[in-house]
Amino acid sequence: MRKLRSALRRYPDHKVIATGCACRLTPEKYSIAHEVIDNIERNILIKDIFPEPKKARYFLKIQDGCNGKCSFCIVAKVREKVESKSMEQILAEIDWAVSHRYQEIVIVGANIGLYGFDMSQRLVDLLKKLCKISYLPRIRLSSLEPRFLNEEIVQYLKDLPFCRHFHLPIQSADDDILNKMNRQYDRGYLEKIMSLVTKHFNDCAIGADIIVGFPGETSAKFSNTYKFIKTQPFTHLHIFPYSPRPLTSAYVYGDPVDRATKRSRLWQLTDLIKLKNHNFREKLIGKTFDVVIEETDRIKTGLTDNYIRVVLDKTDKAIKTPVQITRITASKTFGVIVQ
Ligand code: SF4
Repeated sequence: MRKLRSALRRYPDHKVIATGCACRLTPEKYSIAHEVIDNIERNILIKDIFPEPKKARYFLKIQDGCNGKCSFCIVAKVREKVESKSMEQILAEIDWAVSHRYQEIVIVGANIGLYGFDMSQRLVDLLKKLCKISYLPRIRLSSLEPRFLNEEIVQYLKDLPFCRHFHLPIQSADDDILNKMNRQYDRGYLEKIMSLVTKHFNDCAIGADIIVGFPGETSAKFSNTYKFIKTQPFTHLHIFPYSPRPLTSAYVYGDPVDRATKRSRLWQLTDLIKLKNHNFREKLIGKTFDVVIEETDRIKTGLTDNYIRVVLDKTDKAIKTPVQITRITASKTFGVIVQ
């Protein structure tokens, strides 16, 4: 709301449009905007105003919606209906991406683990289908809910040109908090899927979403999450201080953990993951990876399959090239193109 008011003030001669989940829930609240539009209209509008820059990674949306019951989440309230793209449509999009020389396909959706729920199919059926495509570029999964990660999925991923990168929105690793969040798994389950991943994929990047300061998160409960992150091979974290959302079931708990405590927990996890990420990258020095370069003529960086952004020693006409990691700093990774 603050941003909307500021946009109206700063750009009095422009049309200011409000969009997003909150607008869908309470459009009247946003009526000060010149127009309120839904997410579909927004996507069309964005494509018209900002044509896609030339990229090497294609974001393939396979489904929308989530019928989960996580107590902090608004998604299921505003996009409860699961709608999956047909396999034919997905395969056609892949063909299109390949013919436009995309080097990586990132599978995205509101909850990709629910793919096919509305068509009596499952994510694994899609993966089976993808395994049959001989010209498939490398495939990356975006966020995958922990409860959908299992041995069967892993076996199919191993048969694909799969990017060794998982992003697991675990949110917490304390059993009471997970229960209160209605996440339907516990720390023991998380331990199992972490060993599943590390058993099958070397040098795998593993990211997680964590909410700090969820109602009832005492120091001891936060400490359980902290210890879990510390002892498991996570390489990246997205950390969010909890903020109550009207209409979610956790809203009734209020917001008892104070701001300073949330910030302190956020910084503790940030420092921890910086160190873990550094250690992860350090072990990769001397190894060679296929790097997908996103902007060949302007920026000399590219992405490895295991989610390391590498600064290259020179520009290269190729959009995918082998790169040897040569050195790292606290936040950057450098590499040379292997001819
Ligand atoms: S947190 Fe994820 S799984 Fe849970 S309701 Fe929201 S979108 Fe669905």
